[in-house]
Amino acid sequence: MEFKLITLGISSASPTVNRFPSAHVLKVRGRSFLIDCGEGAQLLMKRYGINFNGISDIFLSHLHGDHLYGIFGLLSTMSLMGRTSPINIFAPRGFSRIMEFLNSEIGKDKQYEINFIPVECRSPYFIEEFSNLTIEAFPLKHRVETYGYMFREKQPDRNVHKSLIEPYGLTLREIASLKRGENVIRNVEDGKPVTEADGSGKDAAFANVLTTDVFTYRPFEPRSFAYCSDTARFNELPLWIKGVNLLYHEATFTSEMDGKAEKTFHSTAAEAAACARDAGAGKLVMGHFSSRYRDLSQILKEAREVFPESYLAKEGAEFDIPLDKVQDLR
Ligand SMILES: [Zn+2]
Ligand SMILES: [Zn+2]
Repeated sequence: MEFKLITLGISSASPTVNRFPSAHVLKVRGRSFLIDCGEGAQLLMKRYGINFNGISDIFLSHLHGDHLYGIFGLLSTMSLMGRTSPINIFAPRGFSRIMEFLNSEIGKDKQYEINFIPVECRSPYFIEEFSNLTIEAFPLKHRVETYGYMFREKQPDRNVHKSLIEPYGLTLREIASLKRGENVIRNVEDGKPVTEADGSGKDAAFANVLTTDVFTYRPFEPRSFAYCSDTARFNELPLWIKGVNLLYHEATFTSEMDGKAEKTFHSTAAEAAACARDAGAGKLVMGHFSSRYRDLSQILKEAREVFPESYLAKEGAEFDIPLDKVQDLR
C-alpha cells in the first residue's frame, strides 16, 4: 500500500555539479509514475534502482528544457531494453512537435507505443483514472503553459464491523452489499433480505434496515500528492489542492530574490510554504533550487518560519505518505 515520492533531479534550469534538473518518481500501490524528466533522469533512475519498465506514465509540467530534455535518452533506452508495454505521456499540446521527432527518430525500431495525451485546462480536471487512484491536472502560473498534477487515492471499499456479523446473522450477500455502500433492507414479513440495489426497498414500518453507517467503516483515509512546478504564487492554487497530504512545490529562490522570482514566474521558499499552509497540506517538499545556492539551509529556514512541516528535496530521498488506518472499534 505504498504511496511515496522519490525526488531525483532537484535543480532549476542550470544544473550544478551536485544537482540535476527536475525529475521525480511517484510510487502508488504498485504503479510508478515519472513526473518531469529533466536531463539525467535515466541516470538518476538507475542510480536509485528504479525500474524503467515499471514506469507506465510520464507527466510533464511544461516544455522548458530542465523538465523535458531527459525524455529523449529515457525513451531511447527503454527501446534498447526491449520494452513492449505502452507508455503514456501527459504534457501541454506543444509536445506534439516533440512526438513527431520521437516517432521519426527513436520510433523506428521500438517495440512499444508512446501515447501522447495533451493536457489543456483552466481549472482542475481529471486526466486519468485507475481502480484505486485518480489523477487531475491544473494550470500553474509560469512564463509558458504549465500544469501541476494531483494524485488522489479513491475512497477504499468499506469494511463490515466484525463484531456485528454473528449477532445479526449477516449473510455473505448482505456483507457484500454493505461493503459496496448499499443499505440492506430485510423484509420483516418473509424475513428475506433485499438490498437497495435491487430496487425493492420496503417501507420502514415493514422492514429492518441495516445501514452502512452502523455496520461498516472506511479502513483507511485516502491519501493525496500534488506536484507544483514551475509557478509563481496565485490565489486559486491552495484551494485546488486543499487538504493534500504531501505537496511538492518549487522553491527556486530565497526571499532576498523575490524580485527575480516575480519576474521569472517562480516562487520563493516563503511563497511555497504559504501555499502549503493555505492549502492545509500535511507536509511540503521543496525543490527546483537555483544553482546560485550551494547551501540550501536558508531556503529551509525561510519556509519553516511560515510552515514548519517543510523539507528539502534531496537526490534519491523518499517521502512516504503513511497509511492512516482506521480501527474497527465496534
Ligand atoms: Zn524549471
Ligand atoms: Zn520553467
